[in-house]
Amino acid sequence: MNKKTYQPLVVLLCLCISVKLFLLQNQSLKAVSTTGNNSPQIVKSGSKKQKIIALTFDDGPHPTYTPQILDLLQENNAKATFFVLGMYAQRYPDIIKRQAKEGHEIGNHTFSHIDVNNVSKEKVVDEFLTTQEIITSLTGIKPKVFRPPYGLYNTKVMDIAIESKCSIILWSTFQDSKDWSNPGVDQIVNTTFSELENGDIILFHDYVYKEESHTVEALKTILPELKKKGYQFVTISELLELSEN
Ligand SMILES: [Zn+2]
Repeated sequence: MNKKTYQPLVVLLCLCISVKLFLLQNQSLKAVSTTGNNSPQIVKSGSKKQKIIALTFDDGPHPTYTPQILDLLQENNAKATFFVLGMYAQRYPDIIKRQAKEGHEIGNHTFSHIDVNNVSKEKVVDEFLTTQEIITSLTGIKPKVFRPPYGLYNTKVMDIAIESKCSIILWSTFQDSKDWSNPGVDQIVNTTFSELENGDIILFHDYVYKEESHTVEALKTILPELKKKGYQFVTISELLELSEN
C-alpha cells in the first residue's frame, strides 16, 4: 500500500474511533437523562452506585396472573411498578386498588396498547388522558410515569410527557426477556441475571395471552435470588429519587 492511499485510511480510522467514543460517552449519560427544559426525562436505568432494582410489569392487569404476581411480591417483601392498560384497569378495578394498597406504583401504558407511530396525536393524547383518569379515580394517585407501548417514543409522546410532567420510562438494555411470548422459565431467569447491574429496570409482563405464564413461574426463582444477592426492590419513582442524589 503506498503513502497516498494509506493517509486517508488513517484519518478514517481516527474518525471512526472518535465517533465510537462519543457514542459510548453519550450512552452512559443516557441512563437517567433530562435532555433540556423542553424535553421530558427519558429513563432506561437508575444509579449504578446502589444495589437497587426496579421490577416493572406491563400490559395488565390480568385477572389470574396479576394477583399471583402480587402474592409473590408480597411473600418477598418487594415493591414493583405496573404499567397498566386503561382498558384492563377499567375491567379489573379491584386489582388496581390492591396494587396501590400494597405500595406498588402504577404507571400509564395507554388505554389499548396503541402504536404511537401509527395514530394521530389526538388519539395518543386521548388514550393517555383516559388512562390517567381511570387510574387516578381508582387509587387517588395521578401516575407520574409513562411507558409508551413497545418503548416507542416520538414528539407526540414527548409533548404529552412534558405537559403532564411525567417521565418516559423504558428498560435496561439487557433486561427484555420477551416473557410475553412464554419463551421458557429458564430463559426469563437467565435474561434477568446474565447482565444484571445495579439500577437496572427489568421488563416483565403480567398480561400474557397464554394458558399459563412463564413469568409467574420465573419470578419464584428470580425474587428470592435477587434478595439473596442483596438487591433492594424499588418503584420507578423511588429509583428516580435515589438516582438524583
Ligand atoms: Zn406493552
